[in-house]
Amino acid sequence: MDLKIEPLNLPGIENKRPLIIAGPCSAETEEQVLETAKNLANNGVKIFRAGIWKPRTKPGGFEGHGEKALPWMAQVKKETGMLITTEVATPKHVEAALKAGIDILWIGARTTTNPFAIQELAESLRGVDVPVMVKNPVNPDIELWIGALLRINAAGVKRLAAIHRGFSSVDQKLYRNTPLWHIPIELHRRFPYLPIICDPSHIGGRRDLIAPLCQQAMDMGFDGLMVESHCTPDNAWSDAMQQVTPDVLDFILDRLVIRDNVEMTESLASLRKQIDEMDDHLMDLLTKRMRVSREIAKYKKEHYMAVVQTYRYSEILDKRAAQGALCGMSPDFVKKIYESIHEESVRQQMEIINK
Ligand code: PEP
Ligand code: MN
Repeated sequence: MDLKIEPLNLPGIENKRPLIIAGPCSAETEEQVLETAKNLANNGVKIFRAGIWKPRTKPGGFEGHGEKALPWMAQVKKETGMLITTEVATPKHVEAALKAGIDILWIGARTTTNPFAIQELAESLRGVDVPVMVKNPVNPDIELWIGALLRINAAGVKRLAAIHRGFSSVDQKLYRNTPLWHIPIELHRRFPYLPIICDPSHIGGRRDLIAPLCQQAMDMGFDGLMVESHCTPDNAWSDAMQQVTPDVLDFILDRLVIRDNVEMTESLASLRKQIDEMDDHLMDLLTKRMRVSREIAKYKKEHYMAVVQTYRYSEILDKRAAQGALCGMSPDFVKKIYESIHEESVRQQMEIINK
């Protein structure tokens, strides 16, 4: 299934990378909303975000003011001319947001995980021409993300974008939500015309990670950035650690290096050719390796041996990981490659043994 999308076509917004969306995690008070928005607008930001309905992991935290905060957003639009966007999770939110003149809607990570909720949202958007941004689900499941985009699109919403906000994982270290960049990159490969916006605030979870994440997103060809910005971040009612002042945001954006795809030069073309040749060799070697592996399967079958010999497997992994480290590669990377090769090898051997 393909997405039938149209350009975002946002009034007053230049069609230029990166599209910037900024504003606080939550709309806390009318003063906080307006002050943050004015500072952002003075620095040239044209799209203002703020959460009004806040999905919180545990009860007891600040869950947003709900409809009461919608007029504050409308005021931002009136006083600064910015476009305004907020998160919606139910048809009721959609109705209230549209009535208040919200220009762009976004669907949060927790909602994207639930096809029932997404389908209900899609129904409520039928026949409405409003741009919708869909955050990735909390779990690293690209199909669920695409499923949500398809459902919203099937309801007739053509102005769509994806927001990459990272994925929760059991062993988090540096990031609040691991970026797993290959997932948004795969999304881009499947839907080249779908704009993808990076949310470095929810990926990083820390102020000091925002600048490097913004740069990484730009280097990977993302179309935009959605950054949490608050007039007094330390006092924020939610996500305080990851919000920056409008001036800090301006400083970060100013220093971004945007490398646009320049035409391929001779030297790049020649380097790519070398890579293609080496990939051919790699495929060739892998094919040969699988053939030998199938020979081994025949031997194992004749001698009533089990397919997987754990000691042999660990030996390969350890030896190659150490070798990889000596060659300047991360041992984890080499281990992953050998785990995949081994998996395919076992699959092919099973076919022979069970024949
Ligand atoms: C947010 O943008 O403030 C938010 C709740 O994000 P997410 O859905 O990515 O957790
Ligand atoms: Mn937040």
